[in-house]
Amino acid sequence: MLHPFHTFCLRLCFIVCYNSCFERFDASFPCRCLMIYFDNNATTPVLAEVREAMLPFFEDSFGNPNSVHQVGNKARVAIERARGQMAKALGVMTSEIVFTGCGSEADNQAILGVLLKIPDSGKNLVISSIEHPAIAETAAWAAARFGFELRIPPFSVREGRVDPMPFLDAIDENTVLVSVMAASNETGVTMPLGEIFAAARKVGALCHTDAVQAFGKIPIKPADIGADLLSLSAHKFHGPKGVGMLYIRRGVSLEPLLHGGSQENARRAGTENVAYIVGMGKAAECAVASDHAAIGQLRDYFEARLAEIYGEQIAFNFAGLARTPNTSSVRFGSEDGNLLLIKMDRKGLCISTGAACSSGSLSPSKTLLASGLSEEAAQATLRFSFSRLNTRDEVDRALQIIGGVYRPRSG
Ligand code: PLP
Repeated sequence: MLHPFHTFCLRLCFIVCYNSCFERFDASFPCRCLMIYFDNNATTPVLAEVREAMLPFFEDSFGNPNSVHQVGNKARVAIERARGQMAKALGVMTSEIVFTGCGSEADNQAILGVLLKIPDSGKNLVISSIEHPAIAETAAWAAARFGFELRIPPFSVREGRVDPMPFLDAIDENTVLVSVMAASNETGVTMPLGEIFAAARKVGALCHTDAVQAFGKIPIKPADIGADLLSLSAHKFHGPKGVGMLYIRRGVSLEPLLHGGSQENARRAGTENVAYIVGMGKAAECAVASDHAAIGQLRDYFEARLAEIYGEQIAFNFAGLARTPNTSSVRFGSEDGNLLLIKMDRKGLCISTGAACSSGSLSPSKTLLASGLSEEAAQATLRFSFSRLNTRDEVDRALQIIGGVYRPRSG
């Protein structure tokens, strides 16, 4: 175990070396148009039609949606249209959608909004061990601050699927909230929400899912999984960064995090970010209409080609489980994933070692460790995440880049 000071020094060296590599070789850096972007779980490019839909709200339609005059009214109408697009995409009522400043805010609102309504301690909340920090950190902080017990059942796989049993064992009559992500940002693995939420409902607990990495990749509707609360973030499905939403089932009352004006039906104060909300609505409409199967075919082609080239010198984490069709978590023998990432980046292939918020960190991903990978396997793992804008030609070029930097030792 490294002392935190040594970890800090190593991290510093890593960043300095990385940056000086950039400076030294900048002239040879691949042209931007040749860059291959396979890091779509970190963020996605904004679609042209989304940008088009947003632009008027930076120009003539700049009004405050809360003003009664016609300029304000134009903005109000646009927000309500976007709310309708979100509601349609999720199969819910427009009154059940609250726009937020990002996915993290929606997650915070869900967790804190429930716990702040419950006066007594002695209760517990249950989350999975592979949650994004927006849930894991919020739940840990809130549990400690308000005196709730935080239960984190282990991630386990049984008979080729994620086992819901540890969750069913953790939920009891004192459980007030169960929050389990719909799909992992790092591995794409989807969680058995239906069974977990059915058990939660039996004891009267509220059910929240962070569906940030699921929406636009797999069909996800609150009614199908029995969710009371569901978070989304626009920049994960070709919308802009800095806007998200929380679905709040009718009848569920949360304590607001932002107090002030009565925007969003008094559930989130602050003048609405009109252009970004419009962008989110448009992106959701496009996401629902997109061909999920085509992205899956691209990912499967990538994995099949890698398997053909490298055989057992490469492994696909959790490939046997239900996964989002765009994500491939690949273990490169016992190589250092950070080094491979830098080498691939230098050749124009943008990928990730794990969650974007932990990139630059030399320690292996906590989520991968919690998912049961060894330290060595987690350290050697890279995440490739595709979008509908990627092509087979890009996959072929990426395979060439990988071939140039990953040369497994024989024997
Ligand atoms: N939840 C998951 C699963 C995510 O992957 C992310 C972003 O990486 C978030 C929440 C946070 O979303 P935002 O970046 O909009 O705050």
